[in-house]
Amino acid sequence: MQSLTRFSRSLWGDFGRSIEMSADTLTSVSLLNLSTEHTIERAAKAMIERAERNPPPILKLNHPFFRMVPLERFLLTALHVEKWNYQRIARTLGIEVALIESWAWATRLKFIFQELKLPLEYPHGPGTLGPVCPEFNLSAPWTQRMLDDQLGKRERMFLQNHVMGCDRCRKVLDQTQRLFFKIESLIPVQDTSPEVDAALDHLMQTWDNQLVTRRPIFMTFEQSMIAFLKQPKAQLALGGLFLMILMWASRLPRH
Ligand SMILES: [Zn+2]
Repeated sequence: MQSLTRFSRSLWGDFGRSIEMSADTLTSVSLLNLSTEHTIERAAKAMIERAERNPPPILKLNHPFFRMVPLERFLLTALHVEKWNYQRIARTLGIEVALIESWAWATRLKFIFQELKLPLEYPHGPGTLGPVCPEFNLSAPWTQRMLDDQLGKRERMFLQNHVMGCDRCRKVLDQTQRLFFKIESLIPVQDTSPEVDAALDHLMQTWDNQLVTRRPIFMTFEQSMIAFLKQPKAQLALGGLFLMILMWASRLPRH
């Protein structure tokens, strides 16, 4: 549930509004009876769409992070704060997983070099590649994949061994890592305070109440019949129906 409020904060900035928005979205999404994981994904998507339709007043958001569009803020929060993998992000947004890598790289570079204009070294990749150096794809480099923990076991082993012995590749990995740390420290959604905790409690309560109203759907036919028959009104109605059948049967002509 905390991830939802963090996504909400990345979209609305203002704390009160983000709690209100996550509670509101959660209420409608929980009617869909999805698993917790899918509920969070659905709610996140619904919140992005809302933030795109009704962006908060820009004056309130005096932070470079909020100059990024809602989708980009969601992406950075998902990657750096929630540590979601590329598959989960793609599933949440309903897009191809293959698109995430280059989009993430472009968004990160935009945040650091365009919005913040930080004097960090730009990770161009090694000037010259050695005979066994991995190809450095400028729009989706392996260094990003490595730091996002998205490598297969064999690729990871190869790259880890390679950077230990190759200064050029190690340098570009260092540059990417510095970029990562910088971004991570500049996403303003992670602070906690008694106010935040209280609001989170409230949100959890909303969620629990939703579960209570959802529960009947999870009952078996037998359980719901028993629950139905336990109601006095139902018993009265059934009694009446039985009586009517008896009366109707007694009026049938007998031979
Ligand atoms: Zn190398």
